Amino acid sequence: MIRIRAIGGYGEIGRNMTLLTVDDESLVLDMGIHLERLVEYTEDEDLGKLKTSELIKHEVIPNDEAIDKKKIVGIVPSHGHLDHIAAIPYLEKNYDCPIYCTPYTAEVLKRQFDDNKFKRKNKIISCAVNSKVNIGSFVVEFVHMTHSIPHTAMLFVHTKYGTVVYANDFKIDLHPTLCDTPNLKYIESISSNVKVLITECLRAQSLSRTPSESVAVQMLEDIFSGIDHKRNTIFFTSFSSQIERLHVAIHLARKYNRKILLFGRSLEKYLTCAKTVGVSDCIDDVEVVPYRALVKRRMKQLQRENMSEYMIVMTGHQGEKQAVLASMVNGKLPNIFRKGDLFIFSCNTIPSPKIISARQDIEEKLEQKGLRLFTDVHASGHASREDLRDLISHIKPQHIIPAHGTMQMMQSFADFAEQEGYERKKTIHFLKVGDEFVLKD
Ligand SMILES: [Zn+2]
Repeated sequence: MIRIRAIGGYGEIGRNMTLLTVDDESLVLDMGIHLERLVEYTEDEDLGKLKTSELIKHEVIPNDEAIDKKKIVGIVPSHGHLDHIAAIPYLEKNYDCPIYCTPYTAEVLKRQFDDNKFKRKNKIISCAVNSKVNIGSFVVEFVHMTHSIPHTAMLFVHTKYGTVVYANDFKIDLHPTLCDTPNLKYIESISSNVKVLITECLRAQSLSRTPSESVAVQMLEDIFSGIDHKRNTIFFTSFSSQIERLHVAIHLARKYNRKILLFGRSLEKYLTCAKTVGVSDCIDDVEVVPYRALVKRRMKQLQRENMSEYMIVMTGHQGEKQAVLASMVNGKLPNIFRKGDLFIFSCNTIPSPKIISARQDIEEKLEQKGLRLFTDVHASGHASREDLRDLISHIKPQHIIPAHGTMQMMQSFADFAEQEGYERKKTIHFLKVGDEFVLKD
């Protein structure tokens, strides 16, 4: 019998965690944090000091108290985003099983433990992309998939009753710039008996397909090729884990003979992990200034240099108060902005009122300083309606459970899945946190 229990990330965006049980063995798929609730709860950056019980109480991390830990044979995060891995350091001590994930995910997870001084109980086992691993009686395939962080896996969990596919998160990018295209033929070949598909539904209401990463690259190339590189500084910000984007931005800056300077700890972390696993060595020969005291000193030096030679990459695109960008615009760091400089936001804004207003505030202050703003130079990493439809048509699941989305997004997903012949309650199942889906046949 296959059972799927929603522990986190159902009817909400964040703290993803799913329990998959077959007879008397279970796997945990993802163990993430709810980033918006974390920001509401505390702005303390010292994550190692936060109490697990308080984080559970405030619904920042999943509540796994009711899980029978003795049955768990493995914890399997699908990729390295914090809403999929960042609860592991708080919760894994209650489990007695390895953590299995792709190499980049493993590196980021190790840094999550080390940087925040968490003690780790269980082994992290790095599984190559496209490898197949036996975990208890499960066979887990880490199938390569495009998203917005390297080594994202679509998890194909083969059980004696059929396959469960965990597609959380992904988009089908047929023109990625730093990795292979998804192998849809192979995906089809291993999908002869897919009992259940658990899939993200964040952008189910967006018609069309999510634009390829190469579209964002084209937008960046347009900006770089259309300016005078002798006159102004380029400031750039994006998700620190968006390695494809950072790789391209750094190479573009090199092409135009700019010096590159990275400000912020998370840029150092994610780019170093990318180099360690051989995804991108773009951090080589780049000046990286991770710590606040050094950032301040370096900015003072910059004030005496020819700044138009630089592209300066920094953290803080979501308006985070502690990050370099907000500190700069709020006068907590030396002013290195000059009229006419470019500021590129290669990201979207997470749709939370607090984050939207923090970003707006930053944009207004940058405009007041006379900067030229380039916003939404971005392509999302999440599946839109036609990506979802394509996935469904390739794997033809018997049942679908939409995850990683609000109830409204789940409804929107069901609306189009009905066009594909699925039926609410019969073959499309909405779970709330705590609910369980049991497949009897
Ligand atoms: Zn993700």
